[in-house]
Amino acid sequence: MKSKKLWITVCIVIFLIGIAGSLWVIFRPHGQTVRIVQNGKTLYTIDLDHSADRTIEVEYQGSKNIIEIKNHRIYVKEADCPDQTCVKMGELKSGAAPIVCLPNKLIIEFTEDDDIDAEVK
Ligand SMILES: [Zn+2]
Repeated sequence: MKSKKLWITVCIVIFLIGIAGSLWVIFRPHGQTVRIVQNGKTLYTIDLDHSADRTIEVEYQGSKNIIEIKNHRIYVKEADCPDQTCVKMGELKSGAAPIVCLPNKLIIEFTEDDDIDAEVK
């Protein structure tokens, strides 16, 4: 029954690889690279881990978003948009929804290296 044992071993190995893969997907260090996209165009790509504190002003048709990077975190500090959703969303968290400012067509999100190809349009 040598082949049966081998088969079981193969199954266990595949199973373990599956678990490891799932854990990797869930717990892998999400890139700390953040992308500021406006109207479909990437304006800034920022590596939060290595970024100094700074303020970035983004303007869209006269409406402004003031984005602040502080202690390797990013958030919208002030905005001219009527709904202020982007300000209320607070800081960007990995795994959570991106910060979106619909009126200003602004998105602040973490980028993941492996979907760069998928985003080429
Ligand atoms: Zn907004």
